[in-house]
Amino acid sequence: MIIDGFEIQIVRSKARKKTVQARLIGDNTVKVMAPYHTTDAFIKDFVTKAIKKFKNKVPVAKGETDLQNRAEMLRDKYIPKAPNFTITYSNRLKRSWGKCFFRTREIIINPVLADFPRWVSDMVIIHEIAHLIYPNHGKQFRELVSRYRLKERATGYLLAKGLKAEE
Ligand SMILES: [Zn+2]
Repeated sequence: MIIDGFEIQIVRSKARKKTVQARLIGDNTVKVMAPYHTTDAFIKDFVTKAIKKFKNKVPVAKGETDLQNRAEMLRDKYIPKAPNFTITYSNRLKRSWGKCFFRTREIIINPVLADFPRWVSDMVIIHEIAHLIYPNHGKQFRELVSRYRLKERATGYLLAKGLKAEE
């Protein structure tokens, strides 16, 4: 059974009396433990709700504070004059790697980046931090982000993965 992109593994057990349980295994498999006589329809409904909860938890599961700390370290190293900001993974981004909200100093980045090499996501984070100073991609902006030596390579990597710069 596939629900919403998740592969569902169902384990029915005679020992289990009442409750149905769903657990996320890896990124896209859900293991369901259910009493022996539970109907497929019930499981489907239960799992659909569980998946909604799992999806909301994605940013936390992928290390939100770790992301904030890492981004602040990159700021201090490459763009120390950038202001304080918040950074989170967001499922709102579909095909783009990140987005910077200049006025509210919020950066969101695509959760798929968590699975890419660190030197790639570092480039994205630095790019978005630079937008806290320059909202456009002008000459000064480009000078700022070129402090990161692997910029061109990382950009190529993302293009190959089908991610464009911004929405
Ligand atoms: Zn940009």
